[in-house]
Amino acid sequence: MPTSFDRSSSSVLVIDDSRAIRRIIRSTLEQRQLFDAYHEASNGEEGLAAAAAVAPDMILCDLDMPVLDGFGFLRRFRAIEANRSAFVLMLSGSGESRNKVEGFALGADDYIVKPCDPAELCARVSNYLRLKDLQAQLGRQNDELERKNRELAALATTDPLTGLHNRRYFLAEVEREVAGARATASPGSVLMMDIDHFKRINDTCGHAQGDAALVAVADAVRRALRSSDVVARFGGEEFVAWMPRTSAEDGATIAERVRAAVAACRIPGLPWNVSVSIGASSLDLDVNESFDAMLARADVALYAAKQGGRDRVVCRASGGAERTAA
Ligand SMILES: [Mg+2]
Repeated sequence: MPTSFDRSSSSVLVIDDSRAIRRIIRSTLEQRQLFDAYHEASNGEEGLAAAAAVAPDMILCDLDMPVLDGFGFLRRFRAIEANRSAFVLMLSGSGESRNKVEGFALGADDYIVKPCDPAELCARVSNYLRLKDLQAQLGRQNDELERKNRELAALATTDPLTGLHNRRYFLAEVEREVAGARATASPGSVLMMDIDHFKRINDTCGHAQGDAALVAVADAVRRALRSSDVVARFGGEEFVAWMPRTSAEDGATIAERVRAAVAACRIPGLPWNVSVSIGASSLDLDVNESFDAMLARADVALYAAKQGGRDRVVCRASGGAERTAA
């Protein structure tokens, strides 16, 4: 009965000034295989040293002992954070209610009056072991749930084809970053990028080839940007990047680097090179511009880049002035 569950290993520390009682407890628990490792001490002070040395799962502690009694042991033992979860069963010759109350108040988990019935002692210890195993099982399930939650969170924020962040992540994350940039008057730039004539790839070579192009362009864009830049697949064949601490001028330079990287990129299986059109804008700190307004300007600039013949960068300042960077 007591060991019918599949329990993990456990160690016990018996603290009692009576050698005879220690021997009885040991053999009682041993008969029912209720511990894997046995330790003992003859007073509270020795008990503290033994507990620190072996970190037992359960402690059976006498109340009346020389040097340091059971209450003194409990008080000092429980004061240590790492000892909060160990099971402590008090053994006392006194069944007085106030002793039991004091023991529980000091952190005892259970209390038995000596001389105790061996069957009762074993029942209480095995009950604790069952609880300990349930706790461990819950802990493992919790770890597993946390791992799955992290996986789900990553899936919810990642574009599965390109491995870039997705639109949802970008909008949420960058809006936060832009708010921070505005608060600290730190510059920042954004790029809206769209693969030119993407439909032609799908129509001529099939969707698998279109996917390969998206993966290759995403990779080229990511490598042309810096690790501090946040880049995402915004939708279809459109990508977006936020470049923190980046002025309009630097943003335009990086945009041109991205454009050139894509133009130079060979796409496996595709007989021609692709290009991107890029619209760039920068956070206007003078007018306390919103994230959406900055994005909208980049989108207008992207449209101008398409109209202007594609494979180019157009920058749009908040006043509306456009400048073709390539
Ligand atoms: Mg005693």
